Order: sequence, then structure tokens, then C-alpha cells
Amino acid sequence: MNSNRQRAFGQGAEASSSWTRFLTDTSLEHLARKLRLLGYDVVTIRGARLEELLEAARRERRIVLTQSARHPARYADVAVITVPRGDPGPALRLLVAMHAPAGEPFSRCMVCNEPLQRRTAFEARGEVPGRVLRTARGLTYCPQCGRWYWEGSHVDRLRAWLEGALGRPLPRRDPSEENG
Ligand SMILES: [Zn+2]
Repeated sequence: MNSNRQRAFGQGAEASSSWTRFLTDTSLEHLARKLRLLGYDVVTIRGARLEELLEAARRERRIVLTQSARHPARYADVAVITVPRGDPGPALRLLVAMHAPAGEPFSRCMVCNEPLQRRTAFEARGEVPGRVLRTARGLTYCPQCGRWYWEGSHVDRLRAWLEGALGRPLPRRDPSEENG
């Protein structure tokens, strides 16, 4: 870990410094998924020890979300937010109030954090159920894991939960954009 290398990473991160990038482990995956749905860039490192999270966060200029109250002194330069166990709602409200997302709600894959790509109904043929093709709005695709997302009952439920947790409505995509 030499300082030149850190500087190089820092320069890379400056281009995207207007939004917050998080890093966590699987113990907070439920919160990470909700943040991704809201448009936040949240990387999960599976099975990582706290030190590994801190190391990666320093390298990638990310803020660590952890349930651990420990913060080893040699990682004093790494920003850490300790998230209490239990209901993710309060933590979500706090993080959303303090940090800017990388993109709009429902613009990232909730599983692998990849930015979603817009797809037309034609492109989705054979990939999503026919009833979805006929009625769905906002078809998007994750190039990383191949998941499809669309506005429908599942997204409506997630949207309702997020709006309840945040206490405000989420912006809706303009349906007139769908043909573009
Ligand atoms: Zn994905």
C-alpha cells in the first residue's frame, strides 16, 4: 500500500465525488439491496473480515457500512458508518439524508450493483413473461447477472416499502420516455 497508488485511486474517485460510494459485507446485504434500489453504489464483499473491508474501502475510496463497533487505529483514515442491527428503515433514512446516490431509484441491479440498461419490449421477447411484455413499463436489464427488472407488482411493493421507510414518494419515470 504505497501512497502513490492511493493517490492514483483518489484521482480516479474525484471524478465521481459528487455521490457516495459504499462498501459492506453480507451481514448488511438487506440494507445494501435497498440502497441499490434507491440508486446508491454499494459493493458487497462476501465473507470479508472488517480489516479486509477497510482495506478495500481505502483502495476504492468508499465508505464502509458495518455492524461492527470496532475501528482499528491503522484505518483511522477510512470512513466507517456503524449500522445498528435490526430494522434497516432508520439506517436507510439517515444514509439517504446524508449522502447522494449515484443515480435514480431503480437504476442499479439490487443484487450485483451493476447499472441497469434500458431495454425495449422487443429486446425482452423470450426473456420475460408475455404478460409483462404487454403491460410492463421501464424494462431494464443487468448485464452482469442477466436479471430483468420492470415496473410491476414486485417493484411496486419495493417502492411502497422504500417510500414508507423514507416517508416520501420516490420519483417515477416519465412513461413518455418509454418509446425513446
Ligand atoms: Zn445483476
